[in-house]
Amino acid sequence: KALTYQGPNSPPQLLEVPKPETEKPTDAIIKLKYSTICGTDLHILKGDVPTIPSGRIMGHEGVGTVASVGAGVQSFKEGDSVLISCITSCGICEFCKRGMYSHCSTGGWQLGNQIDGTQAEFVRIPNAENSLHKVPTGVDEKALVMLSDIFPTGFECGVLNGKVAPGSSVAIVGAGPVGLAALITAQLYSPSQLISIDGDANRLEVAKSFGATHTATPDKAVEAVKEITGGKGCDTVIEAVGIPDTFQQSQELIGVGGTIANVGVHGAKADLHLENLWDKNIAITTRLVDTTTTPMLLKLLAAGRLPAEKLITHKFKFGDMETAYQTFGKASQEKALKVLIEM
Ligand code: NAD
Ligand code: ZN
Repeated sequence: KALTYQGPNSPPQLLEVPKPETEKPTDAIIKLKYSTICGTDLHILKGDVPTIPSGRIMGHEGVGTVASVGAGVQSFKEGDSVLISCITSCGICEFCKRGMYSHCSTGGWQLGNQIDGTQAEFVRIPNAENSLHKVPTGVDEKALVMLSDIFPTGFECGVLNGKVAPGSSVAIVGAGPVGLAALITAQLYSPSQLISIDGDANRLEVAKSFGATHTATPDKAVEAVKEITGGKGCDTVIEAVGIPDTFQQSQELIGVGGTIANVGVHGAKADLHLENLWDKNIAITTRLVDTTTTPMLLKLLAAGRLPAEKLITHKFKFGDMETAYQTFGKASQEKALKVLIEM
């Protein structure tokens, strides 16, 4: 059984499909235990990704058990518990060696987008050696699903690209799952001020519970950041929303010599005020998640130093995907962050 995309604005359908098989020696077949829904899945359902064909199996996050491996897979065997990275990569091509797994030249396949995904009983993972991670003993597999996408995204695209440093001031625009993952992992670098900005009062409360030193609503954000930073603006601004307004606001929140790390996926064009940015020595970074830091994040989770399970607000069985999508689609009313799907 698999949840399949049925074209723009059509509800996805749970269908019986052929069980995936290894197609190349480097493939593995995983029997899913847990999956989850991402904002990207909602974008796909709205038709924002026109390249996706009808029938594509949705989902790019998951934890499961190895069902079978191709002859070229050495590190995994049937029965191993594994975390699946949201993109698959070879690890040895030119781009992979430069840490750009999402641009892997042998197929930086985005699951549930370019190839069939994880909202299914079984999934085929190409380049299994570099795209799967063994589950360390004692790790909560439900929490682990948060490491397929949102934690590497918040950490790599937000915290690393944003050069969060000890004692620095950091504003994170957006307190959705990705913004919160950035908020949690930013603390690995001990910033002095960690300001979470969102219009959703519940999410700001959650941000506080995760260590935000200050919170602000978008209409008060510029004023609040000025006050908190003594008029200087922040050293790092992490944009984790993906709309022109927030990209614009990020340029108002940043201080001299600072870095704006754009994480949000911008469907529309956003204005760049080059004169102002040049005058303040501002760097702007963008990045597609690479999942190169997943092994490090796994160690933190195993050591109990990553409160990933706290992002799970709802749990559903696979048969109840419709309700799961409805709940996640009304995240604000439902006070939902991540909804866990038990396969
Ligand atoms: P989300 O929709 O759950 O969260 C976005 C948050 O932004 C919400 O809490 C919303 O209330 C808030 N928001 C809306 N307007 C705002 C405003 N004007 N000011 C401040 N906050 C505002 O999304 P998410 O799952 O947390 O993902 C965040 C972004 O990261 C999305 O654009 C997503 O596509 C992107 N993303 C990027 C990558 C990557 O590789 N770079 C990977 C995954 C997700
Ligand atoms: Zn590669």
